Amino acid sequence: MKLILLGAPGAGKGTAAKMLTGLDGSVQISTGDILRGAVQAQSDLGKQAEAYMKRGDLVPDELIMGIMEKRLQEPDCAKGFLLDGFPRTIPQAEALKKLLAKLGMKLDLAVNIDVPRNVILDRLTTRRTCSNAACQAIYNVKSNPPKREGICDKCGSPVIQREDETEAAISHRLETYNEKTAPLIGFYRKEGLLLTVNATSSEAVVDAIKDKLAL
Ligand code: AMP
Repeated sequence: MKLILLGAPGAGKGTAAKMLTGLDGSVQISTGDILRGAVQAQSDLGKQAEAYMKRGDLVPDELIMGIMEKRLQEPDCAKGFLLDGFPRTIPQAEALKKLLAKLGMKLDLAVNIDVPRNVILDRLTTRRTCSNAACQAIYNVKSNPPKREGICDKCGSPVIQREDETEAAISHRLETYNEKTAPLIGFYRKEGLLLTVNATSSEAVVDAIKDKLAL
């Protein structure tokens, strides 16, 4: 399947994407994970993206499109992909449309995961992430803590609070979402690709997608 997962930070895009990869071998592509890996490695891309990310601002469209143009041509994308955190602006959505046409690929759906703001705020302030760029497993201090406090169950690296998950950065990321990313809902509605799911459980999101795609 070829899906876009839309939704505010903390809506559960990453969790739903991970569950969907198990269905048909489609790969999760998270621009946030790719960028955090680049920052940790201090590559050119990472150095350019770091300050924007710390503030909770979006990284410039050109950098993101450079990443996606390469990534979508890798062989593992042929079976399908779950775009998690991309596109995030109308120019990115327009550029993606052109890129997919060039690659002869067609999207199945753009899924808007709509979760109430109080749930989002609670999730983001309690979310913890594995610090190992190759892992980036997600935990929650209330609902899904690691077995050993502060240590990733999967790879044994320290589990941390992301620098952009302080209260100030979170509220800035939510404002940025409303201003720059929420307009994509109208964009994909016009394209006839939108599926809105009002669900706070990732299982319910996955079920709604399976129903829609008759999987
Ligand atoms: P995420 O893990 O998806 O919440 O992304 C973390 C941060 O990476 C965002 O706050 C942005 O600074 C940056 N980022 C990730 N994806 C994009 C994108 N598609 N466009 C611009 N910036 C992005």
